Amino acid sequence: MSPLLEMKNVTIHFGGLTAVNGVSMTIEERQISALIGPNGAGKSTIFNIITGIYAPNGGHIYYRQEEITGKKPHQITGRGIARTFQNIRLFGELSVLENVKIGGHCKGRAGLFGALTRLPGVQKEERLIMEKARAALAVVDLTGREKELARNLSYGDQRRLEIARALASGPQLLLLDEPAAGMNTLEKQTLMQTVQHIRDLGITVMLVEHDMSFVMNLSDHVDVLDYGRKIASGTPFEVQQNPAVIEAYLGKEPLDLETD
Ligand code: ADP
Ligand code: MG
Repeated sequence: MSPLLEMKNVTIHFGGLTAVNGVSMTIEERQISALIGPNGAGKSTIFNIITGIYAPNGGHIYYRQEEITGKKPHQITGRGIARTFQNIRLFGELSVLENVKIGGHCKGRAGLFGALTRLPGVQKEERLIMEKARAALAVVDLTGREKELARNLSYGDQRRLEIARALASGPQLLLLDEPAAGMNTLEKQTLMQTVQHIRDLGITVMLVEHDMSFVMNLSDHVDVLDYGRKIASGTPFEVQQNPAVIEAYLGKEPLDLETD
């Protein structure tokens, strides 16, 4: 079976810095893949390239075997790729439901003009967006919290709300940038179940995460970056044994090798 996403020899420079350097990787459908590496390795930049925020200076990206290199973010979302960001990006003064509906609107066919005029098609689309938003909230276990203001949610709930917003666009590939960052143990366990639930729904997940026990317990496949280069790729067990990976983490941050 061909991979869902394929990156071939992708490179990007920021001034004199090569943040991503000839990286190739494949993301298999219906798997949970992790992208790990020390701070500054280029992980978020790869998400920014896949989602069209940055166009790479070299290389190619294929989604379902079609080239998407250099396409605009809304085109990428329209193809079925959604993401969350490393830092929380919620509208604190809007309700939980309103925050999620923003995700659904990204793919709405009536568009901005339609939203300004009350055409029947718009009402139908509005209902559809509402249904998608409620379904997305159910996936992250926030049903019943629709009317609460986003800022009043606990930190863990806010991070899952962001995932719901990404899900509301109906993605087949979901990119999560450090979803467990700042979470306590209980919040991480809940998040792990959420991510497994998402995978069980048939959505492919690619995650960047620093918490090694989270990554190793959850992932089918792991790619490792260091200074913009891919240094290892394999099962969680394989990358943990890899001397280049251990070396990359030495003296930078602890690599928790436990997989309980
Ligand atoms: P990671 O997510 O792995 O911690 P990033 O992808 O955010 O790392 O960053 C990789 C490198 O690229 C870092 O050195 C960072 O400072 C640099 N970088 C990222 N985005 C930009 C940008 N827009 N302009 C300049 N440098 C950037
Ligand atoms: Mg990052």
